[in-house]
Amino acid sequence: MRNQPPPVGQTLPRRHLPLPAAVDRRRLLWSYAITVGFHHLVALLALMPWFFSWTGVILAIAGTFVFGALGINLGYHRMLTHRGVSFPKWLEYAFVVLGVCSMQDTPARWVAVHRRHHEHSDRQEDPHSPLVNFFWGHVGWMLVDNRDLVRLGIYDRYAKDILRDPFYRRLERTLLYPTIILSSWALFFLGGFGAALLAGDPIGTAAQFGASLLIWGVFARTVLVWHITWLVNSAAHLWGYQNYETGDDSRNNWFVAVLTSGEGWHNNHHADPRSARHGHRPWEVDLIYQFIRGMEALGLAWDVARPAKASVPSRRRSTDVRPPQT
Ligand SMILES: [Zn+2]
Ligand SMILES: [Zn+2]
Repeated sequence: MRNQPPPVGQTLPRRHLPLPAAVDRRRLLWSYAITVGFHHLVALLALMPWFFSWTGVILAIAGTFVFGALGINLGYHRMLTHRGVSFPKWLEYAFVVLGVCSMQDTPARWVAVHRRHHEHSDRQEDPHSPLVNFFWGHVGWMLVDNRDLVRLGIYDRYAKDILRDPFYRRLERTLLYPTIILSSWALFFLGGFGAALLAGDPIGTAAQFGASLLIWGVFARTVLVWHITWLVNSAAHLWGYQNYETGDDSRNNWFVAVLTSGEGWHNNHHADPRSARHGHRPWEVDLIYQFIRGMEALGLAWDVARPAKASVPSRRRSTDVRPPQT
């Protein structure tokens, strides 16, 4: 069921999509549902005064950039999924480890699902189009069984290049993925606990400070980064403006762009998926691209893919869109 793109200059009328045919809504994916529910519940502890510390709050806010923008948006998305920029291997792995700590699945799976999204954007086969409904595009899609997303099938089709790397294979096949996540939890707690002990605090106060960093710096931040990432899939396919006729409902949404450090210029991204620069017009601030430029100036980034046209405005047909890089 492929929708033809509208003539250039016309905006798509809002459509309603059925669920992907391969989805079985009655089959809840318990591991995902429990993980998402558990994190939201634990994150609520941040509201209890006992767990409050300004250090924790600062770590949560800074963490949305470090783990969300650098780990997911730069590492998983622009670097791995679209190959829009290359880094030395040690730095590539560092970004991916930050992505792993964001608990958005392994890099191979994230990449495969996202490449499928680009291939079928806002058509029935799209794994998470909000044209089904907002909740589905935001989070619902990952909580129920979708035979299209069975790991071996999508890996073979969308993530072969990722799995050629032994580190990414190990994240699939060994306990390395949960080990990294649990180690990051321990680091936050023990970092706070140890620092407070060194500062001369009694053990109970030190434990309270460690717990505060764990609740704010890990759980509240993880939930925050989840919703920020999910808004790209939901809000940035519903609300905002289009620079390009891409044949899908991707939008440039300034609010999402601010939260994601640049990923909200999502219509630009769908028009030119490989480009490492998502902000095309002068006011479309793209902090992640500025970060990439900084790394490039230091000699730490190369092969930076830039938009086909430096600063945009002439409209292009979706036929000009490059296919997902597989
Ligand atoms: Zn999209
Ligand atoms: Zn993308």
